[in-house]
Amino acid sequence: MGNVYQALNVPTIVNARGAATRLSGAPTALFVREAMFAAGDHCVDMAALQSGASKIIADITGAEAGIVTSGAAAGLLLASAACMTGLDPGKMNLLPDTSGMKNEVIVARSHRNGYDHAIRTSGAKLIEVGLADRFAGTGVRDTEPWEYAAAVTPKTAAILYVAHPNAMPALSEVAAIAKAQAIPLIVDAAAQLPPVSNLKRFIAEGADLVVNSGGKMIGGPQASGLLFGRRDLVGAAVLQMLDLDIPFCDFEISPALLDKSRLVGLPHHGIGRVCKVGKEQVVGLLTALTRFVEAEEVPRRAARCRALGMRIANPLRSLNALNCSIEEDGFKPGLPSLRVEFAPDSPVSPDEMVKLLRSGKPRIECDGGDAGHGRIKLNLICLREEDPELIAGRIHDIFKSAITQA
Ligand SMILES: *Cc1c(COP(=O)(O)O)cnc(C)c1O
Repeated sequence: MGNVYQALNVPTIVNARGAATRLSGAPTALFVREAMFAAGDHCVDMAALQSGASKIIADITGAEAGIVTSGAAAGLLLASAACMTGLDPGKMNLLPDTSGMKNEVIVARSHRNGYDHAIRTSGAKLIEVGLADRFAGTGVRDTEPWEYAAAVTPKTAAILYVAHPNAMPALSEVAAIAKAQAIPLIVDAAAQLPPVSNLKRFIAEGADLVVNSGGKMIGGPQASGLLFGRRDLVGAAVLQMLDLDIPFCDFEISPALLDKSRLVGLPHHGIGRVCKVGKEQVVGLLTALTRFVEAEEVPRRAARCRALGMRIANPLRSLNALNCSIEEDGFKPGLPSLRVEFAPDSPVSPDEMVKLLRSGKPRIECDGGDAGHGRIKLNLICLREEDPELIAGRIHDIFKSAITQA
C-alpha cells in the first residue's frame, strides 16, 4: 500500500529508537490525527484557543495557567522571555536586546545541555554555577544549593533547572532559594513523562514555569509542547507568541490566562512569534494530553510495548549469541524497552548490528548508546504493529550472513 511519503520519494523508517525529533518523533495515534484533522475544519481566534487550552492544562497540572507551544524548546524561549519582560510591552518589543532588563539565568553546570540554546535565543545570558566533579570520578559533589544563592545579582531574571531522576541538587532545595529571593524558577521537564504524576509534581515542588514536550511521551503532534505555571508569567509568554496585528481595544483573552487590565498596551509581534503554534497542534496535543492522564492509558501502552518486545525476543531465542530481556526502565515506570545483550564471541558486534540495521531496507533505527558495553536497546514505543517480525527477521538475516562469511 502506498503512503504519503512515497510521493515525496522519502523512505519511511522502522523506529526502535524512540520519539527523537530527527526521526520525526513517534507515529501519531489515530485519535490524535482525527482531532487535528477536525481542527482544520474551522477557524478560531488563537487567543481564545489558548484560553481554552489554559483551562485544561491548569486542571491537569495544578498550575494557574498554561499554553500549548510548538515544543519544549519553544517553551524555554518563551519562559525566559517572560521572566525578563514581565507584562511590559516595551521590553517585549526590545528582545533579544535586553538593555535595562534583568537578563541573567542561573543554571547548574551539570544541567547545561543543547536545548538551553533556546534560553539564550531570548537574549538571556546563562550564568553557570557549581562544579560537577563527581562525573570525573575525582569528587563527590555537584552544584550545591548555596551556589545558586551566591550567584544572584540585581540582574538575575530566573533560575533554570533541568529535571531528571539523577538531577542534583533536589528541586525543592533550589525552589526554596528561588522563593526566598523572589526569582522565577523555570523547570525543563521536557522528557519527564511518565509517570503521569510528574505533570503536577514540579509545580507542587515550587516551579514557577514548567515545560514539557508534546511530541515525546504525551503522544501529541511532533511539533507541540506545554508551558505552564504562574499566570503573570504564562500571560507574558503567550503575548510574545501570539500574532498581535490588532488594535489594543480589540484584543480579547481570558483573564484566567492573561489579565488585560495589567497591560498598558499591546507589544508588536514578540520574540516567540517565530515559534508559532497552529490550531491543529493545539487541538492535537490537548486531545493526546487528556487521554494520557486517564488511569488506564500508561498501563495500556506498557502492555502493548511488552507484547511488541516479546514478539521480537521470541524468534531471537535460537540465536545463542543474543540474550533478550524486557527492561522496565526505572526512570519511566511502565514503558518497557527490549534490551539485547551480545555474547563476547558474537559473530556480529552490537556496533555492527546498529550500522547494519540502519543501512538495510527499510532503515531500522535503534538505541546504540550502550553498544560499547555489549548491548543495544530497542525502544518499543514508536513501533508500528507490523514492525516486530520485520526487526527479528532482519537480525536473523544479519547473523546468517555474518556466519556464512566467516
Ligand atoms: C526533548 C527535550 C527538549 C526539547 O523538546 P521539543 O518538544 O522537541 O522542543 C528540551 N529539553 C529536554 C531536556 C529534552 O529532553
